[in-house]
Formats: sequence, C-alpha cells, structure tokens
Amino acid sequence: MPPTTRFAPSPTGLLHLGHAFAALTAWRRAREAGGRFLLRLEDIDTGRCRPDYAAAILEDLAWLGLDWDGEVRVQSEHLAEYRAVLDRLAARGLLYPCFCTRAEIAREVSAAAAAPHGPDGPRYPGTCRRLSADERAARLAAGVPHALRLDMAAALEVVGETLTVHEEGEGTVRCDPAAFGDVVLGRKDIPASYHLCVTHDDAVQGVTLVTRGADLRPATAVHRVLQALFGWPTPSYAHHDLRRDADGQRLAKRTGAQSLRTLRAAGIAAADIRAQLLA
Ligand SMILES: [Zn+2]
Repeated sequence: MPPTTRFAPSPTGLLHLGHAFAALTAWRRAREAGGRFLLRLEDIDTGRCRPDYAAAILEDLAWLGLDWDGEVRVQSEHLAEYRAVLDRLAARGLLYPCFCTRAEIAREVSAAAAAPHGPDGPRYPGTCRRLSADERAARLAAGVPHALRLDMAAALEVVGETLTVHEEGEGTVRCDPAAFGDVVLGRKDIPASYHLCVTHDDAVQGVTLVTRGADLRPATAVHRVLQALFGWPTPSYAHHDLRRDADGQRLAKRTGAQSLRTLRAAGIAAADIRAQLLA
C-alpha cells in the first residue's frame, strides 16, 4: 500500500528551512510511492498560534512547490472530538484531574530525594493521583483549575502487552512509555494536548507513515499507548535528523533561522531550496 504521510506544523511563526525539510521529506515519501500527503495545522495552543501565520504556512508550502491531498485539518476546529476522547478515557478510570501549578510540581520534584527524569524532564510525582475521592470532589466543586493526566501505570495494565513500533531502518523497537509518567492529555486551558491530538488525528486521517524530527521520537511511546488503548492503527515511523546550520545549531525559529519568506525576498528560488534540502 502506498503510504499516507503528513506535515503538521504549529502556526506560531513563519516556516524556516527546518520546517521545509520536514515537509519535503513527508511530501516526497508520499509522492514517490503514489501515496497521499496530508497537511494539518496543530493550533490548539491558542495563546501562541495566529491565523496570519497559518495563512503564511499554506502560501509558503505552495511556493515551495508542495501540493497536499484533501482539506487541511485544523485542530482548533475539532476540540469537541478531543473532549470526547478524554471522556472515554475518564469513563475507563484512566484519567485524573491534576490541580498542581508548575511551581508546585517543581517544588515537589526538588524536594524528592531521587526525582526520576523522563524524556520531557522531571517526571510528575503523581501528587494528585493520590488525592482522596473527597478531596478531589471538593476541589472540582470549588472550580480549582485542573489538567487531566493519564494514569500511566493503570493504562499499561490495561494494555498489558509489551508495546513496540516499527521504526524505519531499525525494524521493530520497544517503547518505554513508563518513562514519561502521568502525561497531561487535557490541558488546563483546553480539553486537549499535543500527545492526544497528534495520535487521534493520525488515526482519523489514516496516516500510515509518520515522518518527523528525531526530537519527537521518545514521544512515540506515549502515542503508542494511546493507540493501544483506543485500538487505533499504528503507523510506521521514520524519524529524521534535524537540520543544522554551519555552526551545528538546530534550524529552529528560536535561534533566528532564516524563514522561507526571507529567502524568497532575497531572490532565492524555491527549486534551489528544494535541491539543497533534498540533496
Ligand atoms: Zn497535580
């Protein structure tokens, strides 16, 4: 079967060369094999995402010579779906409300003698998992803001088996979701999170090959747990190295990487950028 791939940027800024490489990689894998290439805007972070960036992303991709199949999926238009997914997990007793602030979590972690670290940093110590039912109900009734965390140990008990994924070039590899601890699946401000939305959307959109930067590779373990809990199909994964500049810095917008707009304004042709990135 020809693969269905996707490019899923967040409209928090202009596309730079690192994005262009990720987009071209996914697009080429689909087009070379007669598959489908999908576009998704991961814009649930309403505080940082902007509509003008979203419009600029589509325009820059078209300028770069990429075409995509079907409608662009815009995550902020699907919050009801994500909430429904959270409700299903809650009904199975796999979610719990976490009332902690960032500062409280940092304090707990630093007070612990041996606070374990996960791929995302210090692992959440599980404070709110241990709240009594009465305490939990009282805080919910008082309207204390809360996130929704996955009870990872309970989830892994349900899933039971040893989880694996197919990583291109390596074959079947084992996942270690426990290292993440109780990840947030529903944020305090919105009933969604990166882990939840990306896994849900890859399933809904029928993505069969996920190409993305190696920085996201550890997160695949969390996504695999969600796939197993919901019976969603598991795509193949092909994590690629992140493009770096001459000084070895990652081509990320935070380090001031040149945007496609800047390069375009400087008279550089899209064909030259494609040739350079895909060389
Ligand atoms: Zn908490």
